[in-house]
Amino acid sequence: MKLDSKVPEGPLEQKWESHKKNMKLVAPNNRRKYEIIMVGTGLAGGAGAASLAEMGYKVKAFCIQDSARRAHSIAAQGGINAAKNYPNDGDSIYRLFYDTIKGGDYRSREANVYRLAEVANNIIDQAVAQGVPFAREYSGLLANRSFGGAQVSRTFYARGQTGQQLLLGAYQAMMRQVESGGIEYFPRTEMLDVVIIDGVARGIITRDLVTGEIQRHEADAVILSTGGYGNVFYLSTNAKNSNVTAAWRAHKKGALFANPSFVQVHPTCIPVSGDYQSKLTLMSESLRNDGRVWVPRKKGDDRHPNDIPEDERYYYLEERYPSFGNLVPRDVASRNAKMVCDEGLGVGETGLAVYLDFRDAIKRDGMDTISAKYGNLFDMYENIAGENPYKQPMRIFPAVHYTMGGLWVDYNLMTNIPGLFAAGEANFSDHGANRLGASALMQGLSDGYFVLPATIGNYLADIKPGTRYGTDHDEFDKAARKAQDDIDKLLSIKGKRTIIDFHRSLGKIVWDKIGISRNKEDLESAIKEIQELREEFWSNVFVPGEKNNYNKYLEFAFRVADFFELAELMAQDALDRAESCGCHLREEYQTEEGEALRNDKDFAYVSAWEFQGVNGKLDTTLHKEPLKFEFVELKQRSYK
Ligand SMILES: Cc1cc2nc3c(=O)[nH]c(=O)nc-3n(C[C@H](O)[C@H](O)[C@H](O)COP(=O)(O)OP(=O)(O)OC[C@H]3O[C@@H](n4cnc5c(N)ncnc54)[C@H](O)[C@@H]3O)c2cc1C
Repeated sequence: MKLDSKVPEGPLEQKWESHKKNMKLVAPNNRRKYEIIMVGTGLAGGAGAASLAEMGYKVKAFCIQDSARRAHSIAAQGGINAAKNYPNDGDSIYRLFYDTIKGGDYRSREANVYRLAEVANNIIDQAVAQGVPFAREYSGLLANRSFGGAQVSRTFYARGQTGQQLLLGAYQAMMRQVESGGIEYFPRTEMLDVVIIDGVARGIITRDLVTGEIQRHEADAVILSTGGYGNVFYLSTNAKNSNVTAAWRAHKKGALFANPSFVQVHPTCIPVSGDYQSKLTLMSESLRNDGRVWVPRKKGDDRHPNDIPEDERYYYLEERYPSFGNLVPRDVASRNAKMVCDEGLGVGETGLAVYLDFRDAIKRDGMDTISAKYGNLFDMYENIAGENPYKQPMRIFPAVHYTMGGLWVDYNLMTNIPGLFAAGEANFSDHGANRLGASALMQGLSDGYFVLPATIGNYLADIKPGTRYGTDHDEFDKAARKAQDDIDKLLSIKGKRTIIDFHRSLGKIVWDKIGISRNKEDLESAIKEIQELREEFWSNVFVPGEKNNYNKYLEFAFRVADFFELAELMAQDALDRAESCGCHLREEYQTEEGEALRNDKDFAYVSAWEFQGVNGKLDTTLHKEPLKFEFVELKQRSYK
């Protein structure tokens, strides 16, 4: 299979503009003749559904939650990037592009990343027009703060609730169309399969999560905006409902899955407190603007942090990376936290934590200023950890947070299956091997508000309006039957282990062996362990309840079943990539200073995996999309 990224020709800065000029259009009076399915109504899907309906297309929008407002996007705290250069500190579209390409360790497409940087400014204008209450300076200008991996301040924010406020904006825009009939809205509905007729995506199979009814929906195009798969690790900062099911089922129908092992571990989360914890909580990266990260210099120093004098504190990020200090990118900060804990310098009961300290910032700026910036985050920390971060340092540790991998898409956000698109965290995204902070909201909204509305028309223009095969077509029958059979199978096992128990065990394998750092031996043993556990799952899981009513256990059971297959693909991908890059640290490939050692000669490609089947083991074929760098020079990343 030859992967065609469909990146337009021409100078980098002109690619998107000239592509927009050259793409085919659907006339306004014809748009209402096309139906588009949008699965997922978080920031990417909500923005996409609203924009497409506003253009006149008929949209059907689906989400798992009772309201689109509860999408995982609501959790985003810190902010959204755009190179408006309001602080006049030298920012530009090129610089945002460059930081993002470099931050991703040169494993993303130049053209996509440039478009992202270019469109970002429009997102801010769009959100402001919707009334999103971004923080402002005294002058009235929108305020910016800095995030990791950049030496400028370009992050727009609404206190620590940026995702929530942006989601409310997208939600309002979407509900306006629900109200006026442009969008038919299906909350509490889960997509279980995509229907492909003659090689083209023509619809989906869903399950009504309240009645259990299996339903069929036909359309001219299907978009998956179903978020990331961080919950494969069991413990992550993602909402419990985040899952891989829609993307994985599409993968099993032929959509390629790209870079599955590229998973971001966020450095500033509240540490794990015990075996029965179900969720981890992020402390926004924005805190690294003012908080200083440190551990005691002496092993086993169990004094209260406030009693440890300045010269006995090891500000390891500031010392090791003087240029970026506490604002190194997430992969670097996470690896360093693990490293100091592995050296025995970790703090707290488990020794798996480092301090994030605001003492100096409070002294410098005053309590009120710090509280205005981070008050809700401090309160959240105190509620969970029982310690007051105004009075003593927070304890933090890395946790799984974001997945750069996802469905492979071309420049138009279309997968290799015609008519099947993917947006937001669900696609393999523009972040390469590591996402910079505040760039996921930027990407999701860029996909939804600006890219899809332009590229979908180009696809639909070649399809005769009103083409319908009928939901009684063989392919709909087959897919609906399969969905029902899988559910019946899960309910009939009636084994002895709970779904959570399996998920927790799977998560432990994935965290220990496909986590912050990986090596060949561990990856090979992870594959074996995953296969064995998966086999046990299918013979020994206990799924309580029935299929024809609201059954959260059943929902989780098929999501965990999909995580089992995905986990094996992640290990295969990490094994194939015999280099270190961004989040993917292969212990065998490090510089003398312990930094990721890339191998551009052999691995400057996107790994795009094709599903072949699961028979005890996962059978896959690897396709490679070579990455060409015409506009940036590949360098060893340095934040020193
Ligand atoms: C705690 C936290 C804080 C973050 N803070 C920031 C930040 O400050 N800045 C930043 O840029 N990024 C941040 N991120 C990342 C960012 O929030 C996400 O990457 C982004 O919101 C994902 O948006 P999305 O629209 O792609 O997916 P989501 O918001 O996850 O939406 C997925 C949608 O798909 C639906 N869905 C899923 N599966 C199915 C299915 N099978 N059938 C039907 N519907 C389905 C869900 O119901 C939901 O509507 C943060 C992430 C976390 C975890």
